[in-house]
Amino acid sequence: MAADDRTQGGRPPLLPGLNALLETPVAESRETSLESDVPGREAEALLRDASRARASDIHLDPYLEHLAIRLRIDGRIVEALHVDSATGARLANQFKVMAGLNPVPALTASEGGFAWIPPATPEEEVFLRVSAVSCVAGEKLAIRFLLHPRAFPDTLALGIGEQGAWGIRRWMDATGGMLLVAGPTGTGKTTTLYTLLQQLRLADSHVITLEDPVEYAIPGINQVQVEARHGLDFAHGTRAMLRLDPDYVLLGELRDPGSAQAAVAVASSGRSLMSTLHSRDAVGVVSSLRHLGLTDAEIGANLGLVIAQRLVRCLCEHCREYRPTDREDAQWLDAVGLEVPPCSWGPVGCEHCDGLGYRGRTGVFELWQPTPEDLAHILRHDDEAALRRSLVERGETLMFAEGLAKAQAGITSLREVFRMGAILAT
Ligand SMILES: [Zn+2]
Repeated sequence: MAADDRTQGGRPPLLPGLNALLETPVAESRETSLESDVPGREAEALLRDASRARASDIHLDPYLEHLAIRLRIDGRIVEALHVDSATGARLANQFKVMAGLNPVPALTASEGGFAWIPPATPEEEVFLRVSAVSCVAGEKLAIRFLLHPRAFPDTLALGIGEQGAWGIRRWMDATGGMLLVAGPTGTGKTTTLYTLLQQLRLADSHVITLEDPVEYAIPGINQVQVEARHGLDFAHGTRAMLRLDPDYVLLGELRDPGSAQAAVAVASSGRSLMSTLHSRDAVGVVSSLRHLGLTDAEIGANLGLVIAQRLVRCLCEHCREYRPTDREDAQWLDAVGLEVPPCSWGPVGCEHCDGLGYRGRTGVFELWQPTPEDLAHILRHDDEAALRRSLVERGETLMFAEGLAKAQAGITSLREVFRMGAILAT
């Protein structure tokens, strides 16, 4: 952690508004009942601070002596402030009241939500989901900003690279087959899909989505929600959709045999299918699809293009530093048999990045378009290791190498690339 630890000392306060409020003398209003405190001043100050710091989540973690406020920024938890237990309880209550939850600590988990207007962007109302659960030291609250996934103007803006963008355009121009975006949860798969949808919408294609549930409305796209209770499951939904004559069909996620079969039904009807799938890398989708009950023949006949991805934090351009490679980073590189560069880019921390050394995230991608040789592997029921070897032998750039290239260019740090998963390097 040495490189990241350097950014901790002297970091500017992440919650200046809340800090200032708590440091002012206790006003009479703070002593009055909970009702008069709604919507709470402290909660409002915390929301403003967290929103300014681009946090996706706020955590209120109770300890016996105090309450820790933590923020998730660019995918990482950052310690923001410790307050005394009384202040912590007041803050938690304010959020619970705003979210329509009973302020009395529940023995079970409870969930609610509320809408909030950020002062900086009053035209964009934000919804927040509040989850509360009782822990030994008190009640823990997790508050999530439910933001629309951001769609980029094109795949190049995602950080996919010229060659990747060309591969995607080629898939879009072809008819039929599946495009799968693969990766673990929280790796930006939805953003990639929405960016592709955006591109298709601009190209005047007829796109229909079948989602469970529809999370965000996209103008210009027909979105259908799976309603298993009313008989509209993936199988029925797909049949109905195909009668609507789409060029492209988007299925939210392939996560059970029903959705996987629906994907095959669409792709084998000559339409192009897009979806996401859990898998550690591109060739890993073959194993995932087999687990979902697809046959090797179905996979081989329909798999068009796989985009595997991870997210890494971007080094802050204002303060990043080119310096002798950290010992821990050197050990990492050495352990996976790679050459250790004498110098590499690392985080420092300044006022532009709240002292974190990083600001924003970018994707690291691996694109795989199965060749006839790969298809032969799939039909022979070879495992993903055999497929991976075949990719390496013909010189394809795998995700880890792509990440290292971004570290070398100073876009991210070596530490962030290692965090993508050591297993990818082997
Ligand atoms: Zn900075």
